[in-house]
Parts: sequence; structure tokens; C-alpha cells
Amino acid sequence: MRTCGIVIPLLLITYSLLVDAPISSRVLSFNDYMVVMVPWVLVSLVIYFLPASTQGGVIGRLLAYHLCAGAYIILIADFSIPFVTLGWLLLLLISYIYSSSRGLVINLLVLLLITTIDIMTHQGDTDRMLIDIIAVFSISIIGTVVISLNAIQQDDSDALLRSKLEETLQRDRLNTLINSLSDAVIGIDAEGRIEVYNAASLDLLNTNASLFGQPIDEIIKVQNQSGKEIRLFQSAAKTGRSRMRDDLSMTSGEETVRLSVTSSPIRSSFGSGKEATTPDGYVLILRDITKAKSLEEERDEFISVVSHELRTPITIAEGTLSNMELMVERGQIPPDTLEKSLANAHNQILFLSKMVNDLGTLSRAERGIADTPEEIDVKDLVNNLFSEYAPQAESKGLRFDIDMSGQLGTVTTSPLYLRELLQNLITNAIKYTKEGSVVLRAKQSGNNIIFEVKDTGIGISKGDQARIFDKFYRSEDYRTRETGGTGLGLYVTAKLARKIGTAIAVKSRLNHGSSFSFSLPGSPKE
Ligand code: ADP
Repeated sequence: MRTCGIVIPLLLITYSLLVDAPISSRVLSFNDYMVVMVPWVLVSLVIYFLPASTQGGVIGRLLAYHLCAGAYIILIADFSIPFVTLGWLLLLLISYIYSSSRGLVINLLVLLLITTIDIMTHQGDTDRMLIDIIAVFSISIIGTVVISLNAIQQDDSDALLRSKLEETLQRDRLNTLINSLSDAVIGIDAEGRIEVYNAASLDLLNTNASLFGQPIDEIIKVQNQSGKEIRLFQSAAKTGRSRMRDDLSMTSGEETVRLSVTSSPIRSSFGSGKEATTPDGYVLILRDITKAKSLEEERDEFISVVSHELRTPITIAEGTLSNMELMVERGQIPPDTLEKSLANAHNQILFLSKMVNDLGTLSRAERGIADTPEEIDVKDLVNNLFSEYAPQAESKGLRFDIDMSGQLGTVTTSPLYLRELLQNLITNAIKYTKEGSVVLRAKQSGNNIIFEVKDTGIGISKGDQARIFDKFYRSEDYRTRETGGTGLGLYVTAKLARKIGTAIAVKSRLNHGSSFSFSLPGSPKE
């Protein structure tokens, strides 16, 4: 625009030099001509080289330029030359672009001023007056129309820009939302290629590589419960509506990840016909449900094993008692049969009560009931357990010893859990020892107290040592089978140990005895 400002007066000077006469309805000398043109060129040079930095500067420069152009029209040319009218129209548009409505007002005011001066200095020249009036009207009308069209276009492009900004904002919002989800969200096109995905998708697939444009069925290979490969895109396209299934799994490295997959079609066209029914793509939401599934399965398996374990003693006790009832009705029960049957039924009831106790302890430990830590005096605890179990050991002909070394002091933990844990180990030691001794030991080792229950019993084979903490596991050893047991004792014990922040270590040799130990942080005696 500023270049244009210089070009106009220079063009006029060159033209007048070439044709050797200024474009004028009046004949002026070359010097008079230059008196008008030189200031105009100077103003345009100022505008070009010293652009205005303030509003006032802009207005001043624009006004000076217009006045020079106005002087040219009054003194040299006039509006009878179409080139002059067009030139002024061009000036109006440039002023509008340069300084919007302010430029427009300056242009029209100067136009009014020069036509008024022109009319007044040429009074009686009706043709000239008419040309001036026509020039004012035509420039104003054409200028207004062009500027209005430009304003409309500007409004449209402003609206477009605003809607683009709004769209970007919406997209950013959506991106933030899907990226903050813990489920993998993947958008695919109508050909099954990935168009959008969130951070959780990369986590699930254990990759950092870009997924854009990749076919989903090659990236995520899943199978159903019977091991049949399921192609996610095909199954989403086949259903054609929103669908959730949680029977899928995927192999990720060594692990098998169980998945719940929800697929929903995206339909952006709401017209009638084929486009309305064919989705433009699909959104897949994949959730890792491995943990939930394994908990669910573990619970189902647990319920089925417990009911199986309960059924046998109940059936035996019920059968024995109903036999006895029959015999009582007949009035002929030999005393030793009665005694045996009663003992049998009693044993089964004892087993059931033990099982119910173990299950109760397990449930308490799982729900975290009674795990409030308290300060426990180690010596008191050991002495109490000794008095509680010495009679049981004695009745089996075993020696029961306690061995305490070091300062001992206290441990801070759940008293119920610690007691139940030690009770289970002592009961087992007495149960699985035919002769010899059982020792309950507490010794200080650094800041820790090590508890140990040691026996000279039947011992545990290497193979069994790996499994004795499994639920319902009982050794196949005939000496174990001679005793009653639920197979839950050590499972519960290990769980209690975890609850109080420790782990049980086993040392055992078949036929030579076993030792179960664990350690807890202790505080020395005050
Ligand atoms: P239960 O004693 O009711 O069978 P546990 O879970 O307490 O169940 O023990 C699991 C198995 O570990 C027992 O069946 C037994 O074979 C073995 N076991 C546990 N403690 C001892 C021990 N002190 N000596 C030898 N074997 C043991």
C-alpha cells in the first residue's frame, strides 16, 4: 500500500514527461506542475520510509497525502478524466485498508472539499459542476458497495476463524479427556485403520510406536475363551451397534491380559439411504479386567472347594447318626459299635468346627478386622502360649520347651493375628510330631525379634514344602492322613503373616522335623 502511495505521483510525473505535457484540462508550465507534484512525492516518501506508530500519525499522513492528491485534481487534472475518478476510487480503497473507517471518512471529506472548491472556483461552468457532483456520487456509492462487500467477507472470515478456534478448543478438550482415561480408547475409520488413540492404549499394548493408520486387527490380536481369534474391526462392523463383551484375552509378552471391549459405531451423516446406515468408523474402549476376572474365578473356585470339603464330613456324620437312629429303633446296639459311631460322628463335627474356625479367621484377615496394632510384650506372649499348649503336648507324650534369648522387649502389631499365627504353628508341630519335642523360640536379632516353632516330627518333603501354604493342601504322607485337618491352617497363617508385614520361612527334612519362623521389628525393653 505504501509502495502504491509512491508509485501514483511518480507514474503521473513520468507520464507527463513522456508525453511532454501534464494531464490537465488547463495548460500549466512544467515548473508549476512540479510545485504540486514534489510535495506529493515527499509526503509519499515520508509515508513509505517513516511509517506512523500512533493513530494521530496515521491520520496526519493520510490527510497530507489526500490534500496533495486533492491539489493535483484542483490545479492540474479534474474529474472529467476517467483515470482521475478511478484513481480517487483506488485511493479510497487503499485508505480504507490502511486505516479502516477513519481512512474512508478522510477520503470522502477531502473529496467533498475539493469538489466544493472546484465548483466555487468555476462558478457558471455547469458541465464541470455536473462532473464534480457525478464524481462525488459515483465514488461514494462504488466505494460504499465495495467496502460493504469487503466487510461482509471479513465477517465471514472472522466467523470461520472463530469456529476454527472453537473446533480446536473442542478437540483439545476431547484429547485431554480421552488421555486422562485409564481405559484404552481407540478410534478407527470405516476400513479398520486407527485414526485416534489415547495414552492408555500405548500402555495396554506396551509400546511407544505410533499407531496412526495401522489396521487395528494387526495391532491388537485377541481371542475368545475357546482360543478362537476374534478380529475386532470385523466384529464391530458385523454388529453395527454398540456392544460390550468381556470374554476376550490378549497376549502381552509372557502375560495373558483379559479384556472387556466395548465397540460403538460413529455415524456422522444423518441423511437417508445407505450413508445413514453405514458407520464412518468405530470407537473401541478396551479395559484390562485380568485382576477382576482372576478374583472372580478365585472366589468361585474357593466356594466350590469349601462346599466340597464340607460335604464329606457332613455326609459321614449324617450317615453315622442315621444308622445309630435305626439301631436304637431296633433296640439292639452293641456298646462298642455305639462308642465307635459316636466317636466317628464327633470327629466329623470337630473337623467341621475347625474348618468353620479357619474360614472365620481367613475372612477376618481378608476384611482387615482386628488388625489394629498394639504393643505386645514378647515374653508374656511366649509364656501364655506355653501354658496354653503344654497340656496338649504332654498328653501326646511330647516335651514342650520355650527358649527366649536377648532383651526381647515388645513388638507392635495386631495381637490377634500374631497369636493366631503362632497358635497354628504350635498346633501343627504337636499334631505332626509323634515323639521328641516341640520348641517355641523367641530371640533378638538386631532390631528384630525372630519367632520360631521347631519340632522333631515327621518333617516335610521338598515337594510338599512348595505347596503346604496353598489352600486346602494336605500332604499325601500316610502319617499326615492319620490326623484330621482341613488344609487351611498354613494358608491362613501365611495370609496373617502378610497382614502383619512378614513372611514365614520353612526348614524341614523328612523324618527329622520341621522349623517354621518369621521375624518382626522389636523395641527393646525400657
Ligand atoms: P492341616 O494341618 O489342616 O492339614 P495346614 O495347612 O496346617 O493343614 O498344613 C498343610 C500341610 O502341611 C499338612 O497337611 C502337613 O502335611 C504339612 N505340615 C504342616 N505343618 C507341619 C509340621 N509341623 N510338620 C510336618 N508337616 C507339616
